[in-house]
Amino acid sequence: MSSTPNSKQANNLPGFDPKMGQLEVIEPGIAMFHGFANVAFAYGRGEMIVVDTSSRQMGAAAVRAIREVSEEPFAFLIYTHGHGDHAFGTEAFITDAITRGHARPKIWAHEDVAGRFKRYALTRGWQSHINRLQFGGAFASDGLFDPKSFSFPDLVYRDQQFLDLVGEPVELHHAMGETDDATWVWMPTRRLAMVGDLIVSSMPNTGNPNKVQRYTLEWAETLEAIAKCAPQYILPGHGPAYRGEELCKEVLSETARALRLIHDEVVRRLNAGEWPVDIVEANISIPADLAAKPYLQPIYGCAPFVVRDVIRRYAGWWTGEPSQMFPASRKERGADILALCGRDAILAKTRALKDAADLKRALALAEIALNANPSDYEAIRLNAEILEAMAGGERSFIARNFFAGAARQLRERAKSQI
Ligand SMILES: [Zn+2]
Repeated sequence: MSSTPNSKQANNLPGFDPKMGQLEVIEPGIAMFHGFANVAFAYGRGEMIVVDTSSRQMGAAAVRAIREVSEEPFAFLIYTHGHGDHAFGTEAFITDAITRGHARPKIWAHEDVAGRFKRYALTRGWQSHINRLQFGGAFASDGLFDPKSFSFPDLVYRDQQFLDLVGEPVELHHAMGETDDATWVWMPTRRLAMVGDLIVSSMPNTGNPNKVQRYTLEWAETLEAIAKCAPQYILPGHGPAYRGEELCKEVLSETARALRLIHDEVVRRLNAGEWPVDIVEANISIPADLAAKPYLQPIYGCAPFVVRDVIRRYAGWWTGEPSQMFPASRKERGADILALCGRDAILAKTRALKDAADLKRALALAEIALNANPSDYEAIRLNAEILEAMAGGERSFIARNFFAGAARQLRERAKSQI
């Protein structure tokens, strides 16, 4: 695996950042390294705090970049959460401190980060598999979730923690949002909020298809709490830095509003006795004024994923369809439909739907034919073609990569049959 994403992979990343790999000095003493995940720096008083350490591939680049503008020792490394693109670049920062003869920086994080690392070790195979698909091969490697990769925090806190950066107050606040172990960092003197993935400069990524539960309502509440501090600067986990009180307030409150609207609509429907499957099919979305905001584009997560997150949080896994409680196998169901309609008729209808660009229905039928006979060459190819078309038109990076990954697997299967 390459040490950094190659340019094709990087261009494929959500909201591709033209400043990727560069340090941006926001103002003297405040800087942000644009990685796939950003690294935030506050310095100028003789010591520096570092918020997130980026990924294993980008940590050293972040260190090199900040060393161009400041030689101050790293006092604290603070993880905004334990995701690999934020907390796995630590080694480079520790090495820098050792090389310069500085004291080893203290790593601070919420107390649940350690549990996350342990879960990653427990489910290492699954994490590697799913991230390889989700990121289209750009970031995952088998070594990524190796327990040796984790730099566990030295110091943890539960609700709030107050630190001192050479006399300047630094506040750590626990939050639930994309993760349950989130921290947002507030420096009141500078009115600087370093928020990790509580702001991702796109539709918040709750309901990620194959990851653990996320927290739509708490995410909105946290953004509202940050807005109350009236930040002058927001350094987010992904995407550009936000400057100016008005813009910061807008990004925080409008993102919170989008999450609340979806959350509340799902809860309203659940309370009215609708089943999860009905709620999914209702295609809940955000109003046009919010959908037009540059920081709410569905380029990574998307509204249908948020809907799923809220359903899963409150209503478990059953869709509400009796046939899905103890489902017949897909092979049996596919074979029954094929026996009734005939394979050729199903494939012909699938092709017609595909040609009419009705891709969701085309895929549903194509899957029936494939499930009935997983080695049906034509059904395999037709499925792959539909998935490729879906990937081509899909804005969500996650969905796009899953469609493309599934298509790739089918193409391999088809090849093995020739
Ligand atoms: Zn992230």
